[in-house]
Amino acid sequence: MQQSPQKLGLTTKIFIGMIAGIVTGVLLKWLFDDSGDFTFSVFGVTVSTYAVLVEGIFHVTGQIFINSLKMLIVPLVFVSLVCGIANLSEPSKLGRLGGKSVALYIGTTALAITVAIIAALIVEPGVGVSMPESVTYTPKEAPGLAQVIIDIFPSNPFAAFTEGKMLQVITFAVLFGLAMAMTGAPGKRVAALFDDLNAVIMKLVTILMNLAPYGVYALLAKLFTTIDPSSIASLIWYFGLVLLVLAIHLTVTYSLILKIFAGLNPIVLFKKMREAALFAFSTSSSSATLPVTMETATKKLGVGNSVASFTIPLGSTINMDGTAIMQGVATVFIAQVYGIDLTTSDLLMVVLTATLASVGTAGVPGVGTLMLAMVLVQVGLPVDGVALILGVDRLLDMTRTAVNITGDCTVACVVAKSENDLDTAIYYDPDAGEKEEELDLDEFEPASVHKKTD
Ligand code: ASP
Repeated sequence: MQQSPQKLGLTTKIFIGMIAGIVTGVLLKWLFDDSGDFTFSVFGVTVSTYAVLVEGIFHVTGQIFINSLKMLIVPLVFVSLVCGIANLSEPSKLGRLGGKSVALYIGTTALAITVAIIAALIVEPGVGVSMPESVTYTPKEAPGLAQVIIDIFPSNPFAAFTEGKMLQVITFAVLFGLAMAMTGAPGKRVAALFDDLNAVIMKLVTILMNLAPYGVYALLAKLFTTIDPSSIASLIWYFGLVLLVLAIHLTVTYSLILKIFAGLNPIVLFKKMREAALFAFSTSSSSATLPVTMETATKKLGVGNSVASFTIPLGSTINMDGTAIMQGVATVFIAQVYGIDLTTSDLLMVVLTATLASVGTAGVPGVGTLMLAMVLVQVGLPVDGVALILGVDRLLDMTRTAVNITGDCTVACVVAKSENDLDTAIYYDPDAGEKEEELDLDEFEPASVHKKTD
């Protein structure tokens, strides 16, 4: 029998899609910049290459990919969380899970922003940067703390589902799962249905992950036709410093947390996060990446479903360490550009506001800049300052989203380990989860129970 050639792994394919997308985008931008758009005539109709390729093929493919990922979020979170809660060994475990997850998420975010502020005060990235003449930015209204808390509870779960309000979906799923566990035989029947639904939805995640190389290619090819390298040059200190603090937080803080609180080797986690990080990088959205983060946590890192189904969706909403780092550096940077001195109490206010803001906002592209506006208002800095950093924000957004989801998985591992719900054999198995990712069409068999027998 002929040996089939070695197949490329999914991560490698996504990586190739990413590089090819970036190269395509940069090349197109370069070509269009020099000579404007390429146009040619077909049957007397003038066709614009830009319109067909970038606004057409890349835009449509990229958006279909993003929408497909988002399509999975609500069903996945609801079904897997209901299963996770219904299968809890004891109800008090839920309180512990919640307490530990929230404490770790808030603690790491506060630490991230503190390190970012200190680094920016030392490096002074804004000193010497001249103020552009007309920068304007219109901020959105920040929700108050009371509203943030009230908004955790849905008045209508279906509205929460359709609007994708993750904290409300989580609350409803937790209550539903608890009620199921307390209902005896009917609860068990519903639980069996949910377990099956969960398996089907996870398969849907696998199917979509296999389309990722093309989606990632299209997203990045389009994005990179819009990125202007000259905007990076003028903000190089700010840009470099945010990247540096992100790298420190990723490699030092998360490593220490994993080692100290869970006794786990952090390198293993970083390796297994590669694929989810590529998704985060290409979509700039922890929410859109959620299905992949969940799959990574359960299948590759060995986090039990009860912990993962609660901790990971919660993290995709309330945990944004990377975003907090950007806000810390950006606030000090903007103050320096405007020549305004920040007092210690201003800086504490920045830590508090940025941490709270990350609880109330979902992980979607660019939300960090909205949160930055809230922080600036809080400490009395000009909100127009946000416009200063917008030119480089998209690239930083991609990078910080990858950090955000790595933080979610780090916390999930630590919480799972402390609850005896981490399968270390899976954690240390380099091939764990890889096989399930491959789409095997031979597995296809009609799901109808009324199968014809010959
Ligand atoms: N895009 C980030 C996320 O989804 C949030 C942000 O920093 O803007 O995690």
